[in-house]
Amino acid sequence: MSRTDRILMGPGPSNPYPEVTEALTRPVVGHLDPEFIDLLDEVNERLRLVFQTGNQLTFAVSATGSAGMEAAFVNFVRPGDDVVVGVNGVFGARMCDVAGRAGANVVEVLEEWGRAIDPQRLLDAHPNPRIIAVVHAETSTGVRNDIAPLGAGKGDALLLVDCVTSLGGIELDVDGAGVDIAYSGTQKCLGVPPGLAPLTVSDAALDSLVAKPQSWYLDLNLIRGYVSGDGARAYHHTAPISMLYALHAGLGAVLEEGLANCWARHRACGDELHARLPELGFGLWAQEGHRLPQLTTATLPSSIDDVAGRRALLERYGIEVGGGIGPVAGKVWRIGCMGHTARRRNVTLLLGALAELVADPP
Ligand code: PLP
Repeated sequence: MSRTDRILMGPGPSNPYPEVTEALTRPVVGHLDPEFIDLLDEVNERLRLVFQTGNQLTFAVSATGSAGMEAAFVNFVRPGDDVVVGVNGVFGARMCDVAGRAGANVVEVLEEWGRAIDPQRLLDAHPNPRIIAVVHAETSTGVRNDIAPLGAGKGDALLLVDCVTSLGGIELDVDGAGVDIAYSGTQKCLGVPPGLAPLTVSDAALDSLVAKPQSWYLDLNLIRGYVSGDGARAYHHTAPISMLYALHAGLGAVLEEGLANCWARHRACGDELHARLPELGFGLWAQEGHRLPQLTTATLPSSIDDVAGRRALLERYGIEVGGGIGPVAGKVWRIGCMGHTARRRNVTLLLGALAELVADPP
């Protein structure tokens, strides 16, 4: 099975949109070329549309989603600040580590993996925190945490949300939900290879930027000049031209389809998987009502071995799914249906392949 035939149905990356693959082959121009600067402005404008925000400071950090997370914390946390973090999976735990390294007094709100965090518990965890942080779509568990109640009840706190696996895949309205700081990654529902971290920051949050964060590269005080579309763009670092071509094309594909249609396509794939997997003996692990359509966590029928089953899927059918991590390592599969991969035909192929595996286990 050749690599180009693979269907990426793990927790990421997803298969890129065809427009994205084409964009990656475009000739590289200089990073100060006026045409490229125009494209950069367009990327930021497209990101505003996909994040649903009017935030002036909206751009793609030149590094992966984790750099988006790091930028979100180091620019707003001063040593000793109280930061409430919801933890119901790997990425909530990573937020605690990142916030702690920036000097935060981290107040963890723990929830069992596979279950959503009750927003009221996050609001009640501290009377006046500097930041309330949560992962919108927990890729390690397939669970959606609700964010709108946090925006409504946050008071003076800044609401910081990890949108790595939610952007473009499920409903997300940054301004409508009162989110102050949100970051994402390109490799999930945007259908672009990994390498950039879209980030958006509200004007209110910008008023309280840390003057000199510990990171030079992620210092938003410096990056602001590079991002600005007013013609006075200052050199900060050399933009990863080809990745930005790719993101521009991926966002273009999402916007051409229409954001609501894109969410509906993800939902239809998730609904189909959630309805049909139990018929094959797989169980749905994530809490009902909070299951992500773009990332399904499924327990395995007793006849299927985790490693042998995933290897057979890859070798026989060219389909890659992810294994479980943390408390459910070896017990669940994480099936991604994201970005360009979220197509009915891929769901049909996967379900057919799983039916064959169940009938003839490896
Ligand atoms: N946050 C979430 C929810 C993720 O799923 C991931 C990656 O899978 C990250 C953060 C980190 O992103 P990256 O691996 O691109 O650094």
